[in-house]
Amino acid sequence: MPPKKTTNLTPESPITALPGISETRGALFAKLGIETLADLCRHYPRTYEIRGKMTTVADALSDGCGHGEPVSLLLTVGTQPKVTTIRRGMVLTRFTAFDETGTVQITYFNQPYLRDAFAVGSTYRFFGRCEKTTGGRLSMTSPKHEMLGASDPGDGSSLPSIYPIYRVTAGLTQKLIAQSVERALAVVYPPDRNTPDPLPTSVLTEHNLCGRRYAAVNIHMPENEAVLDAARKRLIFEELLLFALGLRLRKSMKEQRTAIPMTAPDMTPFYAALPYALTGAQTRSIGEFLHDMTEKPSPMNRLLSGDVGSGKTVCAAAALYIALQNGCQAALMAPTEILATQHYEDLAPLFETLGYDCALLVGSTKAKEKTAIKARLADGTLPLVIGTHALLEDNVVFANCGLVITDEQHRFGVGQRAALAKKAENVHTLIMSATPIPRTMALMLFGDLEMSILDEMPPGRQKVSTFAVDESYRERLNGFIRKQVEEGHQVYIVCPAIDETEDDGEGLGGETVQDDRPTMKAAVAYAKTLSENVFPDLPVGFLHGKMKPAEKDAIMHRFSSGELPILVSTTVIEVGVNVPTATLMVVENAEYFGLSQLHQLRGRVGRGRDKSWCILVSDNKGETAKQRLEIMCKTNNGYEIAEKDLELRGPGDFFAANPGGVSYDVRQSGGLRFAIASFCDDMEFLRNAFSAADEIAAFDPLLQKPENTLLREAMESRFGVVVL
Ligand code: ADP
Ligand code: MG
Repeated sequence: MPPKKTTNLTPESPITALPGISETRGALFAKLGIETLADLCRHYPRTYEIRGKMTTVADALSDGCGHGEPVSLLLTVGTQPKVTTIRRGMVLTRFTAFDETGTVQITYFNQPYLRDAFAVGSTYRFFGRCEKTTGGRLSMTSPKHEMLGASDPGDGSSLPSIYPIYRVTAGLTQKLIAQSVERALAVVYPPDRNTPDPLPTSVLTEHNLCGRRYAAVNIHMPENEAVLDAARKRLIFEELLLFALGLRLRKSMKEQRTAIPMTAPDMTPFYAALPYALTGAQTRSIGEFLHDMTEKPSPMNRLLSGDVGSGKTVCAAAALYIALQNGCQAALMAPTEILATQHYEDLAPLFETLGYDCALLVGSTKAKEKTAIKARLADGTLPLVIGTHALLEDNVVFANCGLVITDEQHRFGVGQRAALAKKAENVHTLIMSATPIPRTMALMLFGDLEMSILDEMPPGRQKVSTFAVDESYRERLNGFIRKQVEEGHQVYIVCPAIDETEDDGEGLGGETVQDDRPTMKAAVAYAKTLSENVFPDLPVGFLHGKMKPAEKDAIMHRFSSGELPILVSTTVIEVGVNVPTATLMVVENAEYFGLSQLHQLRGRVGRGRDKSWCILVSDNKGETAKQRLEIMCKTNNGYEIAEKDLELRGPGDFFAANPGGVSYDVRQSGGLRFAIASFCDDMEFLRNAFSAADEIAAFDPLLQKPENTLLREAMESRFGVVVL
């Protein structure tokens, strides 16, 4: 292959134009969402190794060996490395190294070639976790090592102080990414040319932020921590500001539309048809819908947020009733057939009582019936339809649709949302979400929508009793699981697992990056132990994220039918799968889950008549971990839990992608993936970014003024032409 020319490249050039990136490798980068040089520049490190902060052997020993965090030591090799085979497939390379304060035992596994890499008397910087041996000495296992060059004054200061660690995928190394990023930066931010900054100078000055180029380069290759902090702060601010501007822009655009005029109907027949009285929160929310639908010039654009079981469906029904009473058609859309069918079964009888015909339109609806439903929607004779994205097909046309409600809209694909936005341009829209979210965060993340919150449960709900236990409880826990099964109930056991293909396990030095979360292998092994040793007489099912949907469905089906009384799972059990006879949720290594994830998991039990439990197993003795689990034991209120979670973990986690899948990814799965805002740990800073956006939008709500052109372009290239 001829060498690639790197002249004439632009930020939009494909990364395959760079040396070292073949089409095959390009496809691996694409898995990480990287296609252009600009994308590569925005592939910010997920973390950094601070190797420049040196300690000594004596200090490491007296300081609890870094408390599990890696340490950096400057050591001189003292003994010739010795290679021993301890068993088949396991080779150790060992030697000692020292500084003025003590000696360290160093061990590498299965890297016999390292014997020749270390010369007695040479000095290296070693970086890794250390431990105190039973003999009271310090030991390091597989540390990263860098030799001090001839130019080094002897203190390691010639070596880089900070190494970026990137998110990778199988087949890509840290080294390749770092090199490619460096090349991309040279194109996107050429050293000999000034790249314009999308943020106005006034904003930079007011919030004490560095320039775009400085930030873009130093987020990848910072010389020290102060530089890294400045770069990170600026990029977080920019990302949040652009996001906030996108929301403001979308809101302004929606407010320019004219709503179908509606008047407030008499709600008495609706309330009379319900078998219960509404909660205060439900009444308040319905009042808010009524206001939006009948008193505002622009269409309703509202989010109804409420924990599972808070009674969102009946609120949605009230909105549907308002539209129907105004002579309009209305639609309710859910992300899965199960959910759509459930809504249909709940609502069709209610609306029949009220004199409105209702149809169910999903993928598996028979062709003949589909055709009939579509014909009746088109000629206006069918007032109400409930369905899945089947409703979004081009040939589904409404005669006069006045309201579209979507349940769990974040679970629809981006394309489906775009189709929906187009179909429902002038109609009233209501979105329902079961993710409890703190009010402060909701106002920001959903700044383009009005919010109604159901923070009150209908009366008579049973509380899921929750306990946090450690390993010493294992025997009793197993006994408890068995008892539940013997009583004819089902048990969920959830273990966290990282997806091993996500990381190449390699740092820049070619050694292992530590991620101490349990691996998928550990989860599989655990399921095996449970079924073979602990409950050999009981069927145990295993469910994980990599399974095909059909396989998952089959296992879920066997679980809900009672054929598999115990289900071990690494992933979230599908929302909408309702197993009322399941009474126990066990979460292993509970410290690895976010509070809101734990809350969602707990919501899988306590759905039937029987008393239900949630047992959180964790051996983590850390103060924060303990505090977090205590909150879970104390309250069942999702909003309270979300507020505490925000307090304990900071706002960044609300923007972070969560490997488990349930979290505040409400906005992310719509393509609004934050690249760096997950590092924001300061609520005040977050507010500042949003209020800076407000100031800009106050003068130029549609970002049409020439001085805001760069901002608008940056916003669109960052978040796309925003579709919810
Ligand atoms: P979700 O918010 O999870 O969608 P649902 O709308 O499915 O919750 O409601 C959960 C259950 O609570 C349903 O069985 C519903 O009939 C019942 N429910 C809703 N509102 C009330 C209320 N005000 N009083 C008593 N039961 C209610
Ligand atoms: Mg619901």
